[in-house]
Amino acid sequence: MAFQIQPELLNFVFIPFMAPGHSIPMIDLAKLFAERGVNVTIIVTPLNAARFNSVINRAVESGQSIRLLQVKFPGEEAGLPPGCESAETLPSYELIPNFFTAVKMLQQPIEEELRNLIPLPSCVICDKHIPWTAQTCKNLRIPRIIFDGMSCFAPLVTHVLYVSKVHETVPPNEPFVVPDFPDEIELTRFQLPGLLNPSPRINFYDFREQVKKTEEEAYGVVVNSFEELEKDYFEMFRKLKGGKVWCVGPLSLYGNDDLDRAGRGNKASIDTDRCMKWLDDMKPESVIYACLGSLSRLSRSQFVELALGLEASKHSFVLVVKTEGEKSLEIEKWILDNGFEERTKDRGFLIRGWSPQVLILSHFAVGGFLTHCGWNSTLEGICAGLPMVMWPMFGEQFLNEKLVVQILGTGVGVGAKSTVHLGDEEMDEMRVTRKGITKAVVAVMDRGTEGCERRRKAKELGEMAKRAVQVGGSSCKNVDQLIQEVAPLSVARDV
Ligand code: UDP
Repeated sequence: MAFQIQPELLNFVFIPFMAPGHSIPMIDLAKLFAERGVNVTIIVTPLNAARFNSVINRAVESGQSIRLLQVKFPGEEAGLPPGCESAETLPSYELIPNFFTAVKMLQQPIEEELRNLIPLPSCVICDKHIPWTAQTCKNLRIPRIIFDGMSCFAPLVTHVLYVSKVHETVPPNEPFVVPDFPDEIELTRFQLPGLLNPSPRINFYDFREQVKKTEEEAYGVVVNSFEELEKDYFEMFRKLKGGKVWCVGPLSLYGNDDLDRAGRGNKASIDTDRCMKWLDDMKPESVIYACLGSLSRLSRSQFVELALGLEASKHSFVLVVKTEGEKSLEIEKWILDNGFEERTKDRGFLIRGWSPQVLILSHFAVGGFLTHCGWNSTLEGICAGLPMVMWPMFGEQFLNEKLVVQILGTGVGVGAKSTVHLGDEEMDEMRVTRKGITKAVVAVMDRGTEGCERRRKAKELGEMAKRAVQVGGSSCKNVDQLIQEVAPLSVARDV
């Protein structure tokens, strides 16, 4: 596309929230603008910079004007142990309020950096979970665009319920239908995101209300999705936002080579070649990959259900075992005492720590994805053309499950009934059973009529996703349109 304004005169500033599900797609997003010739500045803390250094250096070597601007993370001032600059590294989620305090303390130093940036920021694209950016951008007269990290469907459901309050008219575990939706979406209050279904223990009420308010004040929203995936909901969301919605995803598909994919979000904790070789020896589409994202922490008993449920499915599997958090030692002890790893060694591969997820999902041997339904993982499964086993846990994950199981028809649920808020895992023993897991895995890997139809739809979606990011595709066009639309705003501000 021919730009009316030279992109090299623009400076897009990105402020990611410090958690992998937020920072990974935002780094992909930032790279996308740098590829268009726009100057890009990403504001990060030192330990987050270390995670993304190599991918950004490769972009710089290829001639792009992109840089990581480091700001010290005031973790210790906020009562956090050293080294906790990303939410999943917290030893206990009791510390989440302290983490948010530290993020809040970044306002003044980041505002200072923004004042001194050359060229001046054309716009700030920031995570919606950093609400103080609204005031900062107002102070500096910089257009603020939020990155939501979700689909169009999920924030739309949330908004409709927030306004209509239908969920408040029924007991929390009784189903209700989301009003005025093209599909009949049935949910319970216990399955809703935190804004509508808060944790009884950690009080985030004010923070969530602030996020909601500042979300409405933003100039627009960038969405990691593609229009064709959720057409009706994209249209509805766009209308709600006065036209200022740009679906630019799936971000994991853009220009990432195997090196980028292998180190996406963090250094893989295993020898990636060994894992790929193990997969090379497996039959096509015979392995189920099970990973529950970066933040969720299973209780020991829920991990046991997952492991034994996978084993009982008789399918080969890759299972990612989290090593963060106080409970991880108990899980490791169970794996050893039970003999699980030894017993399943012919058809099971355990990854302890960070998994090169996108690389694994794209391997021919992987035929299904057991996911916690985080939006990035869900979309990565869609891109890989895989049917999915859906085990939603917290946030908007039950809404993602609805989208995949009911609307897209490419997933099977494990039978999770209600949200487990971060930090509340131990209060929710035996939520999902091994039986439910086995049943869903067997259904997803099945080669009968239903299973084949599900797989066919999943492959079709995978192809649609790839087309969206190619030249001429909807997401590719939306990136150009966003640049066109933002450029005059910054020029108007500068005169
Ligand atoms: N991820 C990864 N390796 C892991 C765990 C997670 O690469 O071992 C990536 C995953 O590919 C996704 C992101 O981390 O891009 C997790 O985001 P998501 O929205 O799925 O879930 P969250 O972690 O925010 O709950």
